[in-house]
Amino acid sequence: MKAMVLKEKGKLAILDMDFNETLGADDVRIKIHTVGICGSDVHYYTHGKIGNFIVKEPMVLGHEASGTVIEVGENVKSLKAGDRVCMEPGIPDLHSRATMEGIYNLDPDVVFWATPPIHGCLRETVVHPAMFCFKLPDNVSYAEGALVEPLSVGLQAVKKANVKPGDVALVTGCGTIGLVTGLAALAGGCSKVIISDVIQPKLDIAAAYGMVPVNITTQNLVDVVKNETGGWGTDIIFEASGNEKAIANIFEPLCPGGKVVFIGMPVEPVPVDIVAAQAKEARMESVFRYANIYPRAVALLGSGKINVKPLVTDKYKFVDAIKAYDYAANPEPRSVKTIIEM
Ligand code: ZN
Repeated sequence: MKAMVLKEKGKLAILDMDFNETLGADDVRIKIHTVGICGSDVHYYTHGKIGNFIVKEPMVLGHEASGTVIEVGENVKSLKAGDRVCMEPGIPDLHSRATMEGIYNLDPDVVFWATPPIHGCLRETVVHPAMFCFKLPDNVSYAEGALVEPLSVGLQAVKKANVKPGDVALVTGCGTIGLVTGLAALAGGCSKVIISDVIQPKLDIAAAYGMVPVNITTQNLVDVVKNETGGWGTDIIFEASGNEKAIANIFEPLCPGGKVVFIGMPVEPVPVDIVAAQAKEARMESVFRYANIYPRAVALLGSGKINVKPLVTDKYKFVDAIKAYDYAANPEPRSVKTIIEM
């Protein structure tokens, strides 16, 4: 089958590959329909590695996917051929301690698409455990199905924040993850979401969702937050930029006793101001992917409580997948999510 392969840093090719995937009793075979391009995919393309994960041999990219079930294993009762599904890209060891404790995203043996040396899903078909495939409601498109992956990161962050009805949140960073976190915060009960970035067209998208945009090239974030919260600060801060400067000052806009959730991943280790945190008895959480979130994400899309359609800004066909990656590596400022359709 045809697959989009990262041969080495900076070298992509659409190749014919044989994956020899046999269908286990608990698996389904899926014809891939849509695959989103993630920041991590682009980073492997441009840098050949993320931290300790290094591309040493050719690897198929892509982990944000939706498709159609074409074959089911003999034990599978939850799905049938023809079902439209989105797929959770990380498969843990089902018998590990982490899985038993409900934190299967932290299982050291998790196998995650397009994380070296595991092949991703930007190819014609995949075999995947049925329990990690989720049926899409009729009113949820394949494109929205592919967006369930980043949306799940935002929902995991909101779950970790323990949002209470009426909380005011600040999201630092208005990329895909910042935007879906803002949407998840609103759906989760926040009365107001303030969101900061340096790129105005992305902030305009946030504003269209009813979030309060702050362009930090022209506005003072702490002043805006004070204004919006009667001087108190926000109950929660979702750090979704991974930016060193944003993290250095992250406790400033927080209210006393508030909570910071770290979502963005700095490329290098960055300093955190512990005394600034202590002065507010700030609580801190961090997020690594998600666990038990996909069904909730799909339900929120189906109910219309979250609408990710405006985030799909750029579409390519699979034959143009290399163009799509070159674009995603150097996108226009208005660009949020680039997707590839098979
Ligand atoms: Zn992703």
